[in-house]
Amino acid sequence: MDKYAVIGNPVSHSKSPQIHASFAEQTGAALEYGAILAEKDKFRETAERFFAADGKGANVTVPFKEEAFNLANSLSTEAGKAGAVNTLSLDAEGKLCGHNTDGIGLVTDIKTNHGGSLTNKSILVLGAGGAARGILQPFLDENPALICIANRTVSKAESLAELYRDSGDISACGFDDLEGRQYDWIINATSASLQGDILPVPIELVGEKTWCYDLMYANEPTAFCRWSQQAGAGKIMDGLGMLVEQAAESFLLWRGIRPQTREVIDRLRSS
Ligand code: NAP
Repeated sequence: MDKYAVIGNPVSHSKSPQIHASFAEQTGAALEYGAILAEKDKFRETAERFFAADGKGANVTVPFKEEAFNLANSLSTEAGKAGAVNTLSLDAEGKLCGHNTDGIGLVTDIKTNHGGSLTNKSILVLGAGGAARGILQPFLDENPALICIANRTVSKAESLAELYRDSGDISACGFDDLEGRQYDWIINATSASLQGDILPVPIELVGEKTWCYDLMYANEPTAFCRWSQQAGAGKIMDGLGMLVEQAAESFLLWRGIRPQTREVIDRLRSS
């Protein structure tokens, strides 16, 4: 049996083992996929131990994506630009390769599962952490009209926008600067919903044609999804589809086959 795992802290809540078990069943792959809790200062040792014990690939989740970036011997273009790795694979020589499938997972969910488009659209990205870093290049590849990154710590949004300055119309600001603006898309890439926090941004940002997407997912509507509903958004989505799509991209990297995702998303949604 080939061994795979997700490494994080916390990790017990992760739906990745369930998702990859469905992919294995669907594709007839003989594999096991576990969840490994790494102590906060022990990511490197934990990952190295897993691969030394014949692990074939790993997903990396909060808070270790930057450490995984540092651990990898080589990086995909997306991971290099994002400065964050969510998937580790082995090359032919047994060296660790770092990838970032979060952005492509989100874009696939938006386009394929929700029938959305980012092309020529104005996009507000709330947050400038690891998830925001991972989605910017795949978003820019869709040729949006503009992207604005707004973050609680404005300097982080500014340095992120600076990194992508040559790739499109991309700017940065604080939440206070959003007064009087409206966007086609509002993407919540903050972790505020984890604590149930409502972001201090004006409700007028949302028009009746605005599509709102929270990267977080939960069994109940997230704080951001509830806020979007009150604001009258045209469509509201959470990150469950992104989670399954990024997992399918990891599976493709490891096994050379991209599993079907629709049924897996539906099953998770109703479980
Ligand atoms: P992160 O690196 O820790 O960044 C957190 C971001 O949230 C920062 O921009 C931070 O602002 C902001 N923030 C946190 N609490 C806030 C609050 N109360 N008010 C305003 N801003 C707040 O986390 P991450 O890895 O980017 O993850 C962000 C979210 O994306 C999480 O909910 C995660 O679960 C989700 N995610 C989902 C998927 C998926 O597949 N669906 C994949 C990746 C991530 P400061 O810079 O000011 O601290």
